[in-house]
This record gives sequence, C-alpha cells and structure tokens, in this order.
Amino acid sequence: MNRFGYTRASDVGEAVHAAANGDAAQFIAGGTNLVDLMKERIAAPSRLIDITRLPLRAVKSLPDGGLEIGALVSNSEVASHPEVVSRYPLLSQAILAGASPQLRNMASTGGNLLQRTRCYYFYDAALPCNKRAPGSGCPARDGVNRIHAILGASEHCIAVHPSDMCVALAALAATVHVTGPAGARAIEFAEFHRLPGDAPERDTTLQPGELVTAVALPREGFAAHSTYLKVRDRHSYAFALVSVAVGLRMVDGTIGEARLALGGVAHKPWRDPTAEALLRGQKPDDALFAAVGEHLVRDARGCGHNDFKIALVRRAVVRALQQAVAGGPRA
Ligand code: SF4
Repeated sequence: MNRFGYTRASDVGEAVHAAANGDAAQFIAGGTNLVDLMKERIAAPSRLIDITRLPLRAVKSLPDGGLEIGALVSNSEVASHPEVVSRYPLLSQAILAGASPQLRNMASTGGNLLQRTRCYYFYDAALPCNKRAPGSGCPARDGVNRIHAILGASEHCIAVHPSDMCVALAALAATVHVTGPAGARAIEFAEFHRLPGDAPERDTTLQPGELVTAVALPREGFAAHSTYLKVRDRHSYAFALVSVAVGLRMVDGTIGEARLALGGVAHKPWRDPTAEALLRGQKPDDALFAAVGEHLVRDARGCGHNDFKIALVRRAVVRALQQAVAGGPRA
C-alpha cells in the first residue's frame, strides 16, 4: 500500500474543502471497496478524507411523499428500514441480494454507488487496463470475458457495474444529491453512472471533489408489484451475471406504469424507457414479456464467453415480469 495522508472531516463543507486541496484525495466511509483497491495498488490516493463523522446518517420523509436516504446510512440499515421494506421492497430485495451481511453492515449508500467494476483485469496491476491505466488496452475483449458487458460497451472497455442496489435505484428513478466546490446539485439516477465510451476511467458524472450526500426516492415505490431477480453462479456472495429490477403499477389488471432495469450487462444500470413503453397500457402476458426481453437485447453484442447473457436476459426479463405481476418473489 502506498503512503497517504489522512483527514477526518466534521462537516460536509470541511470535507469538500479538503478534497479540493488534494488532486488525488478520495473520500472514505465504509472502505469495503476502496481499501481493497489500495491494498492491490489499484488506487493510490494522496489523502483519504474520512467522512464517517458527517451528519449524513438519517432516513427522512420528504414533503413530496418520497424518502431521502443519507449517504452514510449503511446498506443493512437501508434494507431493513421499515419505510423501505413497506414502500420500496424492490430496493430492500436488491440490497439483500448483494455481498454478505458483514459487508452490508459496513458499506454505505454513497459508497455503493461508487464501487468499481470487478473485471479481473482491472484488479491485476501487472496487466494493461484502460480503466486503470488509460490508453494501455483492454485485455478482456479477447480474454476471459464471461462476466462482461453485452450492452453499451465500447472498444475501450467492456466492464460492468457491479452493484445490485443501483439497479433498483435506476428502476425507482432515484435522484442523487451531491455537494462540491461549485455547490450542491441533484443528478437523476440515469445520468449518474456513465457508459465507457473513450474514457472508461470515469465511472460517473461526478465532478472533481463532489461528495454524494443523499439519495432521494420518489413517492411511487411500486410496492404491490415489484421484484429483483438476480442470476449468479452461486446463491450468495456472488455478483450478478444478469439481474432484473421491475416495478409495475397495475390498474384494473392492466399495466399502468412499468419500470425495468438490468444489472450485470453494462457499465451502468441499464434502463431502457422504450422497453417500459411496450408494457404500458397492456394486459400482462408471457408473449408480451418475451417481446420486451427481445427488445432489450436488440443491440446486445457478446464477446465470446459472455454470449450466453443475451439469452439469459430474455428469460430473466420474462420471469421477473411474471414475479412482479404476482406481487414479488414472496407471493
Ligand atoms: Fe479494464 Fe474495462 Fe477492459 Fe476490464 S473491460 S480490462 S476494466 S478496460
């Protein structure tokens, strides 16, 4: 591990100011990803700014009927919070599908958004990787790419975003609140993570020195008809090969509104409004669900080992929509 400085911030302004004073400074909360990256010499911040004392641990009801989750609320606390369990079960299910209880106890809401890909090559400092060392190449394209992207990839990077929680937040159309040197702003969840393009080293649209302070959920949580379906190599402590988050608002047996996001397939949680539009106003039907699955993979490309994900998305989308109509996986 490289030498680094350490600052413990007591308020948001102090944390942002400390980040602005160090080119390679990074915020740290639970450290469940960053510490591993530092041990492997994948990340080498000049200074860690400890934000664990900041007042960002509240879950608050919002005047518009939504719910705000502070950036330092742990993944475990979010998953078990009564308001989340009753109004946003999709989010609770997605969080509980990820990592292990110990990691969920340490991992923060803000940190979950910022965790980095689990591409094998990214974690091996002896190998080239455009995300870790821009311009060095992408060995995954012609290498072992079973866990890699089938949608939205570029010639520079085919990595996928690893979070389960973020797939649910994409389907719920959450908003990310951040504060930085230029002040506070809100980012729609669909705009928070980015596709790799020609700059795969950038995972998000955060500007330098910006700190995630909260995630806001809109009032509609699709509690009666939602599900998170995760397909993986073993039943726990494994990242998604493909996951599907679905929220439906049913009106007299018809789909009034639909939200659907995929995980494990792209550099960001993959939400396609044109697929959701196919469901709107329709009666639930397996042929319709199969058409939605087909639509979602219309531009999918495999790299060899991950070709199976295309068929897997088709089938997982059908099953997730069936589950959501039935009231979720517990119904
Ligand atoms: Fe690096 Fe992305 Fe290629 Fe993986 S897929 S080796 S993260 S550039």
